[in-house]
Order: sequence, then structure tokens, then C-alpha cells
Amino acid sequence: MTDSLRRDPRSEWIARNRLHPLHASMQPLEASWVGLSGLIRKNPHALGFAGPNGLKRIDRSGAQQGGSRQRARVDAAVQLPLHIIEQPAFHIVVVPDMIGGRLSSHDKDLFGLANTLAGSEGAVVAVVFGEHKESAFDTAGIDRLLHISSEAVAGYSPEQRVMMLRAVDAQLAPRHWLIPDSRTGGGELGRRLAAKLGERPATRVWQMADGQCVGRAGGGQQDLVRRAPRLILAAAECADPVGDTRHEVRAIELEDVLVHGAARLDNRGAVAVDPALTPMAEAEFILSGGNGVRDWDLFHQAARELGATEGASRVAVDDGFMPRDRQVGATGTWVTARVYLAVGISGAVQHLQGIATCDKVVAINQDAGCDMVKRADLAVIGDSTAILQALIDRVDALRQGGIRDAA
Ligand SMILES: Cc1cc2nc3c(=O)[nH]c(=O)nc-3n(C[C@H](O)[C@H](O)[C@H](O)COP(=O)(O)OP(=O)(O)OC[C@H]3O[C@@H](n4cnc5c(N)ncnc54)[C@H](O)[C@@H]3O)c2cc1C
Repeated sequence: MTDSLRRDPRSEWIARNRLHPLHASMQPLEASWVGLSGLIRKNPHALGFAGPNGLKRIDRSGAQQGGSRQRARVDAAVQLPLHIIEQPAFHIVVVPDMIGGRLSSHDKDLFGLANTLAGSEGAVVAVVFGEHKESAFDTAGIDRLLHISSEAVAGYSPEQRVMMLRAVDAQLAPRHWLIPDSRTGGGELGRRLAAKLGERPATRVWQMADGQCVGRAGGGQQDLVRRAPRLILAAAECADPVGDTRHEVRAIELEDVLVHGAARLDNRGAVAVDPALTPMAEAEFILSGGNGVRDWDLFHQAARELGATEGASRVAVDDGFMPRDRQVGATGTWVTARVYLAVGISGAVQHLQGIATCDKVVAINQDAGCDMVKRADLAVIGDSTAILQALIDRVDALRQGGIRDAA
């Protein structure tokens, strides 16, 4: 063993590469934290990183500190005070839309409103139908989670869901029901529940205070102020999402489900829709083209063959290859696709902001060192035209059952 300081070039590379998944863990510990007095404390010795020559460097551009800020944010999340409510005096029940199996920003706004209504005595209950892939219920402000995964409520099943919600109503007698007034589920479910309960709901509510609620009316031209009823269908941005507490997410069960009468709706499953018409914010699979796309006809053909919704970088839009409403990024649409396939896109920070919450990112690019490749879960290095053509050939072969021959 020698006392000489040994360098680890790989760790140093990760520490410099702010897009590497392990980047945050390689940053100096605790550059800043909130002290007991509530003031932010900074450790000047923790700033900076070891440069290639072993000397300490401080990056004044702020890019390197991004990692430590990110780490500080993660730490802050871990240290958020835990809100526990043992014996709730009443319940506020929220039925989130869970688009794509995750809490949408609209859902989170409702939980923010629910927490305001619950105060320190009530409990916020989330009723979640079907499979989901959400892991941040605690920081969204959920005290109790009622997860109904029964086959009966899978897919489009408003009648069965309303029956379940009536059972929840009988069990918990909530002080308020909060349901997103959205086209993607909550709008219809909330109105059906209101009809079943025989209660008049407040719709398109965007503000609630002192027992009064304000809802949009007259085609969005007027505000309707009324006493807040029990059933509230709330608009997006009705409140700020929860940001400063963690909640227990204690699981609860439904005791008695009063299922009676056959469903009058026959769910024949999902109908194929034209992916080109799907709004990008709702698309699950996006094929996005940038300045590295050389053959746009081939790009459109690939999108059709793959059944993907088309997106684009700002350069592709500015150059007139794609319409403005297809731009992904900070000044375009922020997307939440399950798969984001980026063809010839370098991964500028403004573009990466727009795909931050995508599940899987695949990059097709000639430059193995570009930021999009660093961000991607899978990268294919090569010419976009050749790779798109190979992709189309493979999909064709797969459709004809000859995938082995195509390989
Ligand atoms: C205020 C502001 C806001 C902005 N907002 C946005 C935004 O919302 N969205 C957005 O996208 N941009 C935005 N931009 C622009 C952004 O900074 C980048 O300029 C832009 O994203 C780059 O687009 P690109 O990746 O398609 O092009 P380039 O940066 O030119 O990258 C092209 C990529 O294609 C690769 N390539 C080249 N030829 C081939 C080939 N034959 N096969 C495969 N790969 C190839 C290259 O290696 C390169 O990685 C914004 C900029 C500003 C200043």
C-alpha cells in the first residue's frame, strides 16, 4: 500500500458529466443546507471538483454545481417533515386521473387544494383505479391510499368506478370530494358520481377559500361564486401542489362494495387513433426529429410504421420541416412519453428540459458524445437515414412474421 493519492478517471469523468445518471452522487457533499434557524448555510470548502490535473476547480458557470443543487434537492426531499394524521376528524377524498399511470400536474394541484382543506385535522385520501407506476404519492400530499386494482375497473369503466366511489362515500363520508374536471376521465366520472349521489357539484373550480368556491362559467367568460358544495370538480392550477411535507400514504381497504345491476356500457377495448392527431403532451410514444434528419419523407414514414406521434427540435421547426405545435422543449411542449425516440437531436438543455419526465429515451445520432446520447437509455450511433430505413424494414419484417430473417 502506498500513501500516494490515486485518481479514478471514470469517477472524475462522471463528476464532470452533468447528464450522467450517477453525476449527482459524485458531487461534493452538502454544499448548502437549511440550518436550524431556517437560514441557508453554505460550506465554501464543498464547492468545486477535482480537475484532470488533480487541482481543485470551481466552475463559475454554475453548470457543475447543478449536480450538487440536484443532490441538495434530493436531500431536501428526504428531510421533508413527515405529516402523520392518526385519527382524522374528517376525510377529503381525491380521485386523480393518473394519466399514463402517474399523477398529472392537474392531479397534484388537486392534492394541494385537498391539503389546504384538510388542515391539521383531516386526512387526504387518494382513490387510485387500476395499475399505476407512481412512486411519489408521499410528496404529493396523500395521507391514505385506497388502491382499487380489481378487474372490474380496468380500462373505460365509469359505471363500475362510480359504484366503487359510492362505497367509498358510505365508508368514509368525506367532507369533500375533489375530482379533476378534465376531458380524460375526471370530468365524466365526477358528473356521474354527482348524479348517483343526487348532489349538485361545483364545476371548473379554480379557486376555493373561506367556504366559497369560484368556478368558470359562460364558456369560460364568467366566474360563478357559490358556497363550496361537497363535490368539487376542479380545474388545473386550482391550488399549488404540496411542496414542503411528506405524507404517510397509509393503505386502506374498501370494506363493502355495493355492486348491483349489470353495467350498461360494453367496453370493447381501446380503439386505434391516428397518432398524428394525438396532442404531444398526452402521447405515449414520440418520434422526434432534429437537424440531423436528412430525409423527412422517411422520417414521416417511420412515424407511421411505428405508430408514433411526431415531435421536433426547434431547429427542425425553424427550418420549416415541422409545424410549430410539434416543438418539444422549454419553449415548446413538455412531454411525458413512455418512449421518446430522438433522431438527429443534439440534446440542447432547452430540449432536454421538455423531455425530463419521459420514461425511456432512445437516441439516434452520429455523434456518440452528444448530450442526447448521454441522456439516453439506449443510443444507436450512425446515420439517421440508414437507421430509420433499417427500423422500417424491421417493423415490416415483424408484421410479416419474419423478424429472424430480417435480423
Ligand atoms: C431561448 C431559447 C429557447 C429554446 N427552446 C428550445 C426548445 O423548446 N426546443 C428545442 O428543441 N430547442 C430549443 N432551443 C434551441 C436549442 O438551443 C438548440 O439550438 C436546438 O435544440 C438544437 O436542435 P437540434 O438538436 O435539432 O440541432 P443541432 O444542435 O444542430 O443537432 C443536430 C444533431 O444531429 C446529429 N446529426 C447530424 N447529422 C446526422 C445524421 N446524418 N445522422 C444522425 N445524426 C446526425 C448531430 O450529431 C447533432 O447531434 C432554444 C434556444 C433558445 C436560445
